[in-house]
Amino acid sequence: METTGQIKTKPAIICETLAVLRKYHITPGLIRVVLGGDDVLKFSDVTTGVNNKIYIPPAGATTIQYPVFDNGKWISPPGAEKPVVRTYTLRALDLEKKEMHLEFVVHGDTGPASAWAMRAEPGDILGVAMKARKEALFPDADWYLLAGDQTALPVISVILESLPANAKGVALIEVPGPAEEQQINTRAHNMIISWLYNPHPGTGTLLQDMVRNVSLPDKETHRRFIYAAAEATAIREIRHYLRKELQVDNTELDAYAYWKYGASEDASSIE
Ligand SMILES: Cc1cc2nc3c(=O)[nH]c(=O)nc-3n(C[C@H](O)[C@H](O)[C@H](O)COP(=O)(O)OP(=O)(O)OC[C@H]3O[C@@H](n4cnc5c(N)ncnc54)[C@H](O)[C@@H]3O)c2cc1C
Repeated sequence: METTGQIKTKPAIICETLAVLRKYHITPGLIRVVLGGDDVLKFSDVTTGVNNKIYIPPAGATTIQYPVFDNGKWISPPGAEKPVVRTYTLRALDLEKKEMHLEFVVHGDTGPASAWAMRAEPGDILGVAMKARKEALFPDADWYLLAGDQTALPVISVILESLPANAKGVALIEVPGPAEEQQINTRAHNMIISWLYNPHPGTGTLLQDMVRNVSLPDKETHRRFIYAAAEATAIREIRHYLRKELQVDNTELDAYAYWKYGASEDASSIE
């Protein structure tokens, strides 16, 4: 495995080429890829649950040609050498075992990241870039609403795993069907976890309707926090409902479009 080195900006970005140790299906539609090697230790200052950039090399490549920062802008390597860049979530980091875990939704061959995960084999390389910053993934609150589709399962799982035992609230998770439900370890027994099914991700989602069915506690008496991440249309509706109809303020809400139906990440203008 060859490492192309670190890209340094403010805050420092750790960028390393890691190799696949193993992969397995958590469910039929979600693949966990475990990356490993000594270079995983360079990610000791990142925050689990935060997003990264992955660099997918062209098939057969043994090194990754990273963009370089020159004269105030990023310059990508020429055509065939250019890696495909996508955004994923750091699902878990085990520094003792020198392992980094990422989870990929399987949505066929049309997406380079999905296709890469489906075909990944031990020894294959992947570039990973992350901010070297320890930060709170979510604020302390009395009540939580977590709402997302399968692409948000990694971050929702990290949040649920780290909530304290007395945390209260609701998690709404949309997956294609019952086979995609998974066990999530949480001490927070007062978090109600609801699985919704949508066999056609990106269309016909019920996530925004389910969010409307949740009754939020009063903001005067509760510190509330809402994390929503899913396909762009659902997020637009959820954000509009919470901000405009319920007057939830920005400090209580993190809402992110994780992908856009019909558009690849490099073509979509995801907020
Ligand atoms: C902060 C952040 C964190 C994310 N974390 C994760 C994560 O941990 N795991 C994860 O799987 N995804 C995650 N995503 C979403 C992921 O980046 C997108 O799904 C991405 O488009 C996948 O890239 P691709 O190369 O497979 O497909 P693209 O080349 O981007 O898209 C090709 C086609 O596939 C469609 N498509 C893209 N994603 C999906 C999908 N999930 N289901 C059905 N169709 C799809 C597109 O609309 C397009 O038509 C995250 C996104 C963000 C912004």
